[in-house]
Amino acid sequence: MKEINSSEFENEVLKGGKVILDFYSTECPPCEALASKFEDLSKLYGNDVKFVKIFRQGSRDLSDKLMVKSSPTLLFFDNGKEVAERLGGGIKRIDIIRNLDSMLPSERVKDIKSRIKPSVSEFDVIILGAGPGGLTAGLYLCQSKINSVLIDIALPGGQVSTTHEVSNYPGFIDPQPGYMLSHNMSEQTKLCGTIYKVAVDVTRVDLEKKEVVIDEYETVKAKKIVIATGTTPNLTGADGEKELKGKGISYCATCDAKYFNDKEVVVIGGGNSAVEESEYITRFASKLTLIHQFDKLTANKQAQDKIFKNPKVSILFENEPRAFIREGDKIITEIEDVKTKKRQKLVSDGVFIFIGMKPNVDLFRNSLELDSWGYIKTDQDMRTSIPDVFAVGDVISKKYRQITTAVADGTIAAMAIAKELD
Ligand SMILES: Cc1cc2nc3c(=O)[nH]c(=O)nc-3n(C[C@H](O)[C@H](O)[C@H](O)COP(=O)(O)OP(=O)(O)OC[C@H]3O[C@@H](n4cnc5c(N)ncnc54)[C@H](O)[C@@H]3O)c2cc1C
Repeated sequence: MKEINSSEFENEVLKGGKVILDFYSTECPPCEALASKFEDLSKLYGNDVKFVKIFRQGSRDLSDKLMVKSSPTLLFFDNGKEVAERLGGGIKRIDIIRNLDSMLPSERVKDIKSRIKPSVSEFDVIILGAGPGGLTAGLYLCQSKINSVLIDIALPGGQVSTTHEVSNYPGFIDPQPGYMLSHNMSEQTKLCGTIYKVAVDVTRVDLEKKEVVIDEYETVKAKKIVIATGTTPNLTGADGEKELKGKGISYCATCDAKYFNDKEVVVIGGGNSAVEESEYITRFASKLTLIHQFDKLTANKQAQDKIFKNPKVSILFENEPRAFIREGDKIITEIEDVKTKKRQKLVSDGVFIFIGMKPNVDLFRNSLELDSWGYIKTDQDMRTSIPDVFAVGDVISKKYRQITTAVADGTIAAMAIAKELD
């Protein structure tokens, strides 16, 4: 694996044969989540494909030239030509493998795969998801001397690590940067002795058998499972959104706002996240247009007062996005007035979308009892409809989703489990 700068791009990448190039940034949780996968895969594929990293903030001209619009972005080259699909955002190991395999002869791929050995490990408790809910469950279980493993598809911390500032978590006089709060939570649980398997792909979950397969080849078994997988951002469903995700459309202000210094952005949404993250984005952007579907913002009063006073922000009420189109360096956001149906086009340098969340239950949707919005139903001890399976945090059916409520759920589940295993 090699770190390069822009001046080495031509020799190391364009003249480098088969190359995978990682544009990464600092203070970028998805970049950190990718780092260990990238290194791990370099050991497996390193004889066939050159693994190269480049610091995006230090290579702005090159990233602009290559139209790299968010971090991390993985590009694949073969003899100077870009091949395979670009990968961005929360990049999965299986997607990288798919792209690498497509660059190699099938015999070579077979040989590489034959070097991977399946493994099995056993614990008392598997915790799926290392956000505040899962980390707190891990801490309490560990302090009860229960052998637990935390499994996460990203780095530990959950949504808090991508929140720029948290001002309502008790115990801190000043607002805390989200990544510091989640870092401290994670270190506390890790120092206690909880085993971490993070930045992995969760291939399969069998809740009845209490088995989780990660990265296709590693089976983790336990007596009990705690689901703490949280939620993910909703998509608007407008044309072009999926295609431009990570290529001009972002769902993480902490990761990408810094690339919009003196630039113009469009933000979709009107709730707490949209309004608070807009405030943060205007530390960088020169102009921000907020598009909201209703005639009033739904964010809390304090956040609204602040945004209405912000001279960089203008708000277009009762409008919804219908299409996102790239034109050169710009993104065109086509919006429609929900009453008049009149459409207009907004030109900006980038778009941020904050329009609510959906529960991460895809891997166990068919086996668990869910509410009508797809959130997991639990009893007051966080037990689900399957024996020995618990669920905590934002993924469960409840009224209020906050760090404090996720932490409380994690505590309750861990104490119930500790009692049962005693
Ligand atoms: C922009 C924003 C700002 C916010 N600001 C605040 C605030 O100021 N104060 C406050 O109290 N709350 C805030 N919240 C809400 C708060 O972040 C959540 O309530 C809290 O993080 C929920 O914790 P959790 O552990 O349930 O889930 P999450 O924090 O969402 O963590 C879930 C974890 O599960 C992992 N995961 C997902 N799928 C899988 C899988 N299949 N297998 C394994 N792991 C998986 C994810 O990678 C993640 O690490 C904010 C949320 C957002 C989006």
